[in-house]
Amino acid sequence: MTATIIDGKAFAATVRAKVAAHVAQIKEENGITPGLAVVLVGEDPASQVYVRSKGKQTVEVGMNSYEHKLEADTSEADLLALIDRLNKDPDVHGILVQLPLPKHLDSDLVINSINPAKDVDGFHISNVGLLGTGQKSMVPCTPLGSLMMLRDYHGSLSGLNAVVIGRSNIVGKPMANLLLKDSCTVTIAHSRTKDIETLCRGADIVVAAVGRAEMVTGDWIADGATVIDVGINRIEAPERGTKEDGSVKMKLVGDVDFASAAEKAGAITPVPGGVGPMTIACLLANTVTACCRANGLPEPEGLTA
Ligand code: NDP
Repeated sequence: MTATIIDGKAFAATVRAKVAAHVAQIKEENGITPGLAVVLVGEDPASQVYVRSKGKQTVEVGMNSYEHKLEADTSEADLLALIDRLNKDPDVHGILVQLPLPKHLDSDLVINSINPAKDVDGFHISNVGLLGTGQKSMVPCTPLGSLMMLRDYHGSLSGLNAVVIGRSNIVGKPMANLLLKDSCTVTIAHSRTKDIETLCRGADIVVAAVGRAEMVTGDWIADGATVIDVGINRIEAPERGTKEDGSVKMKLVGDVDFASAAEKAGAITPVPGGVGPMTIACLLANTVTACCRANGLPEPEGLTA
């Protein structure tokens, strides 16, 4: 079987177009421009790239972007004071604190100080609880993007067997909760799980969110199953030659061995170009959803869980 490649880049473009259309409508009919505030503490290079990309895409869909870049040694009190101001600012509908935070800051305390209605990352304990009890919440972006692609491919997910590999609070657990909410039968696997291969072979859907390059191979996948590869791993790519400094060039791969898995799967997301682009698109979707909820406006269709 040759798998359908689920094109996350193209899918993300359709999500951004839907967000842009809804933003334009809210502006025209209600005179409100959704706004996203992104807070970056320190100078982690990867975080800087993410924040730049988030700001650029926010503006491209017609929303206001507010970037707050704080020094690496910013005190917890100063960071909490900024979040308090953003919580109270009516022009700010979404607040995202870029993780990881420097070690002297308590991430849980900081995230839980965000107004849950503006918590567009969906990490606030209230949103975690709402999602866990099947209620309307802000949903973490990467699992939301994965769910959107699964719904688009399958239509209904009801009754399907899903295995989620990984139990982190940002991907594995919310992913499992979303699949459960859509009436899948869900198994969560992790580093202590015995015989993950056999669990996966019984699954209609495998979501890999582990952080181990190409761990899931084709012989783990049932014929025709759908594979969502959340992993992003940088590995050496000697086949691409060397850099100017003589070191081996690198490449991005997922947690799934794409070549062998694509021979068994019915559908599969590639890395790069699968789940990755959906994450920021869903952040924009969450911001427009938060804006609608804050103002008692109808929510855009197909952009929430
Ligand atoms: P974490 O490190 O927080 O969690 C990894 C999970 O994988 C843990 O639950 C761990 O189990 C489990 N695990 C580790 N080794 C094994 C193993 N050998 N067998 C089975 N399970 C194992 O990672 P995240 O959830 O934050 O991220 C997972 C991957 O997704 C990473 O590659 C990350 O870069 C990527 N990612 C991609 C995003 C995107 O936008 N596409 C966004 C966020 C993450 P245990 O709990 O027992 O330790």
